[in-house]
Amino acid sequence: LTLQWFGNKNVKVVEAPVPAITEPADVICRVTGTTVCGSDLHLYHKEIMQLQAGDILGHEWMGIVDEVGSDVKNVKKGDRVVASFQIACGTCKFCKEGLSSMCDTTNSSSVQEKLYGKPFAGLFGYSHFAGGFAGGQAEYVRCPFGDTNLLKIPDSVPDEKALFLSDIIPTSYHATVCADVEKGKSVAIWGAGPIGLLAAKWSKLAGARRVIVIDRVKERLALARDTIGCDIINFDEETDVVKAIYKLEPDGVDCGIDAAAFRYTKGLLHGVQRAVGLETDSAEIVNEALQAVRKFGTISLVADYAAFTNQFLIGALMEKGITLRGTGQAPVQRYWKDLLKKVESGEFDPTIILSHRFKIDEFRELYEAFDKKENGIMKTFVET
Ligand code: NAD
Ligand code: ZN
Ligand code: ZN
Repeated sequence: LTLQWFGNKNVKVVEAPVPAITEPADVICRVTGTTVCGSDLHLYHKEIMQLQAGDILGHEWMGIVDEVGSDVKNVKKGDRVVASFQIACGTCKFCKEGLSSMCDTTNSSSVQEKLYGKPFAGLFGYSHFAGGFAGGQAEYVRCPFGDTNLLKIPDSVPDEKALFLSDIIPTSYHATVCADVEKGKSVAIWGAGPIGLLAAKWSKLAGARRVIVIDRVKERLALARDTIGCDIINFDEETDVVKAIYKLEPDGVDCGIDAAAFRYTKGLLHGVQRAVGLETDSAEIVNEALQAVRKFGTISLVADYAAFTNQFLIGALMEKGITLRGTGQAPVQRYWKDLLKKVESGEFDPTIILSHRFKIDEFRELYEAFDKKENGIMKTFVET
C-alpha cells in the first residue's frame, strides 16, 4: 500500500508494486512508521505545481532494511533505521561540508535553478520540485545513497521517538542554532506547530532565560505554556504582537525564530507557488520579528518560504544590525547522531507533541483531519 496524490485535497491509499534496487547505493526498506508533516499540506493543496497524479508522498519515515545494493556498507538486511527527509549523495562538495540538504547532485529541478541559481537536495515524496523521489507514506521505499541517508536506531529507542529524527527533531534544533539561541538569552518563536514547539523545547534545554511562543491555536499554546514552560501570545487576542513581546522583554528578544506556516507572495513568478489561503501577508512575520528582536539580535527563518516577498522591513534589518539567517532545509545528517543520543538518554522527548496514531489504510482520513487541525491533532504516528 502507498499514499498517492491525485489532485487538490485528493489523496488515496493505493496498491503499488514493491520498489526495486536501481542503483548500487540503493537500499529497499520496509516502512514501520511514517507521518504527515505541515509541509505535506502544501502538496495536499496543490500549492507546489510540479506534482503528478500518482506521486507517492511522505518524507518522514523509518523502517527495517529489506535489501541492499552492492555498494552499500553501513547497513544490512534486518537493521532498524530512520531515513533523513532529504536525499544527499554523501560525496559532493556540500555533503562533505556537512550540508546534506544542499547536496549538489540529487536534484536537478530547473525551477529551483532558475529561482535560486542552484537547486538544493532532493527530498523524499516532495514532487518533481524536489527531485521526484517516491516517498515513505508507503509500506516499502527505495532509499538512494542508503549509506548516507539512513541512520541505525538502537533497540532502546522506540519507533515513535526514532521516526522524528527524520525531520522535526533536527529541523527544530537547527532553527535554534541558526538563531544563536544560548544560555541566558530570550527567544520568541512564531508558530506553535511541531517545529516551533520542539524549537521551544531545545531553547529551554539550551538554558534560554525566557521563551515566548506566538500562535492562535489554543491547544498548541497550552502545550507551549504547560508542558514546555513558555510565555505565550495568542495573536487573535493580542493584535499587536510586537508590543506584547516588549511588555515581556523591554529590550526586545535576543533571538527570533519564524516557524509559522508557509507564506505566499502575491503574484509569484514562474508559477512555483499559488497564492491561496493567505492568512497574513508574506513578510508580516519576518517584519514582526525584525521589530521585536533586540539591536544586534538574530532571527532564523525555518518556515518554508519560496521565491519573492513584498514589503520587507529592510530598514530594521540594517539600522538595528540584525542577523537574519535562512536555515535552508535543515541538514539532518549534520545533527542526527548527536540528537539520537539526547533522545536515547531521555534528555529530549519528542513525544510531547505526539497526539494521534493511525494505520496506513486511514491515511485519507488523516490528511483531512490534519488539514482542518481537528481534535487538537498535532503530530501523528502512522503504523504501516
Ligand atoms: P504547522 O502548520 O503545524 O504550524 C505552523 C503554526 O503557525 C500553526 O499552528 C499556525 O497557527 C501558526 N501561525 C500561522 N500564522 C501565524 C502568525 N502570523 N504568527 C504566529 N503563528 C502563526 O507547521 P510545522 O509542521 O510546525 O512546520 C512549520 C514550518 O516549518 C512550515 O512552514 C514547514 O513547511 C516548515 N518546515 C521547514 C523545514 C526545514 O527544514 N526548513 C522542515 C520542516 C518543516
Ligand atoms: Zn517534514
Ligand atoms: Zn551531495
